[in-house]
Amino acid sequence: MYKKLFTPGPTHVRGKILDAQTVPMLHHRSKEYSELQKQVTTKLQKLLYTEQHVYLFASSSTGVMEGSIRQASNKKILNTINGAFSKRWHEITVANGVACDTIEAPWGEPITPEMVDEALASGEYDALTMVFNETSTGLMNPVKEIAALVNEKYPDVLILVDAVSGMAGAKIEFDAWGLDVGLAGVQKCFALPAGLTVCAVSDRSRERALNVSDRGFYFSYEQMDKKYDKHQTRATPAVSLIQAMNAQLDDILVVEGLENHWKRYQEMAEYVQNWARKYFGLYSNEEYLSHTLTNVKNTRGIDVVELNNRLGLRGAAISNGYGPLKGECFRIAHMGDLTLNDAKWITAQIEDILDL
Ligand SMILES: *Cc1c(COP(=O)(O)O)cnc(C)c1O
Repeated sequence: MYKKLFTPGPTHVRGKILDAQTVPMLHHRSKEYSELQKQVTTKLQKLLYTEQHVYLFASSSTGVMEGSIRQASNKKILNTINGAFSKRWHEITVANGVACDTIEAPWGEPITPEMVDEALASGEYDALTMVFNETSTGLMNPVKEIAALVNEKYPDVLILVDAVSGMAGAKIEFDAWGLDVGLAGVQKCFALPAGLTVCAVSDRSRERALNVSDRGFYFSYEQMDKKYDKHQTRATPAVSLIQAMNAQLDDILVVEGLENHWKRYQEMAEYVQNWARKYFGLYSNEEYLSHTLTNVKNTRGIDVVELNNRLGLRGAAISNGYGPLKGECFRIAHMGDLTLNDAKWITAQIEDILDL
């Protein structure tokens, strides 16, 4: 039986979006394909408030994280860690043999501008990694504030942001914030089938990349730029997913409208957070709660697996706590095409099942 996904990736995909993939295949060197990519890129630039390059990679997010690590640094990278996905940035940096150090905050607590300032003051770094929305803890790091600090005091440091579970769900003003890489797989807030990653890259990142040796090939901005102005990708793109993306971006930008879109997310987040406060607790620092998922602290000691099994019988799925938080927490996503009514429905099911 298919379940409606209230999981923080993949998320529920509407039938209309699934159908948009089934139009006849385009050849990726044709004019028709170029027109499709041009439209999608322009819409993504609007969504991300950027005029700089936005690439489409046939890959999950992790591949693009790896690609961006390989072309960021000639000195050392500072990996900021306060959850499982920010730790992944570090693991990728190490696995690629790129020099790095870490700073850490406890899970559920933010990385702050002060912490970053203290670490960058040594002058050893020329890039920094961050996660915008930590899917493992349900926390949003203050990326805008950190980027403001870095751009003012450390202009040579590139800011690489894993925005996987935040992009298209919370406003990211890529140019105004001064970010250098912002990437996200489309199975989260974009509510598309998995397999495509969006990556915004600043002009200065592209310049830096040209001076980094052993920067790889598949994810190389230099390689992508060979076809960028023609609105094509270097290797064969995920054409069907890009068709679905085009339909989804029209719904976000035109049918719903961007401001309404951000408002819907805000309303769902406030509703689920209040529900969690009433019946359970919240795991992360209250001042930095995610707008796209809620990590509910299991203060009642319920059996999360059993709850999810029973939700499954009603046609829905939520997520257990991530990694070490299994059983200690459960996560309800309010991302993608879910609505406030969906959020009210899932919490009502949980209340009913648990007799709250
Ligand atoms: C889901 C997720 C990832 C990993 O994405 P893949 O598409 O599985 O590679 C990375 N970072 C964050 C914050 C995520 O939520």
